[in-house]
Amino acid sequence: MFGARLRQAFVACIRRSALSLVSIICLSGVTFHVGWAVAQAQSDTVRQPRVVIIIDDIGNSYEQGLAAVNLPGPVTYAVLPFSAHGKELATIAHQRGKELMLHAPMSNTHHFRLGPGALTDALGEQEFKRVLNRSLDDIPFAIGLNNHMGSLLTQKEEPMRWVMQVAKKRNLFFVDSRTTAKSIAWEVARATGVPTFKRDIFLDHQQTREFLQSQFFKAIRIARQYGQAIMIGHPYPITTEFLAEAIPVLDEAGVQLVSVSALLMMQHEQRRFAQTQHSECDSTEGYHCQGNE
Ligand SMILES: [Zn+2]
Repeated sequence: MFGARLRQAFVACIRRSALSLVSIICLSGVTFHVGWAVAQAQSDTVRQPRVVIIIDDIGNSYEQGLAAVNLPGPVTYAVLPFSAHGKELATIAHQRGKELMLHAPMSNTHHFRLGPGALTDALGEQEFKRVLNRSLDDIPFAIGLNNHMGSLLTQKEEPMRWVMQVAKKRNLFFVDSRTTAKSIAWEVARATGVPTFKRDIFLDHQQTREFLQSQFFKAIRIARQYGQAIMIGHPYPITTEFLAEAIPVLDEAGVQLVSVSALLMMQHEQRRFAQTQHSECDSTEGYHCQGNE
């Protein structure tokens, strides 16, 4: 059974990346994760690793979107504006206590079709902001946004500043999907004072279980090493099927699944703590703090 195999693989992953203060005891094939609380009492520097899972591209397919919305735990959903089922799926997700974001289409270097709500550098400031505001108005309960595609636009400072000015005015957070390593969106968000994260791992650009599992473990290793990791997946049936089994196992790995806003709150607290420690590179920047892309 896939679930049992996944659990075993998790155990191996945990062992490979175990922190010295945290004990893993294996008894009769059952893994017990011994006490983050105990470990934290032993050291202020050890925190429970946290992961965020964002499912992008919600809205075009009702069935696939609904299956994604039915995933357990505080998964975050990024919804395409003016899509056939975006509003309805956002409403269902909100009723189930999930967090919602606008998945804002932005121009890309491959000239892929963007659909309605497209943001491009052909738009002047006023029109650009009008399009973005209309897209935000289209997604009920959205409290943040990330970029759909955007490998071209996220390299450009002026349009990114316009995005962040709208986000700041509406009290939204921004997640840089990092569809290109050259994206400056995260930096512009920080400079504008918009709460922000960068995506660490794309889960499913190859749609096989082996690839999903390997990417998921990579995210866990990043979270264990740097405190947090942001994963992005899509409502493909194989991704939904994998996550339905993988999410419940996170607990056993001692990793906490949190929404974007929950991680931002924790980040805020950690940053305050880091400031009191005069840290130059506070741990809330996670993986990227070490210069990784
Ligand atoms: Zn997308």
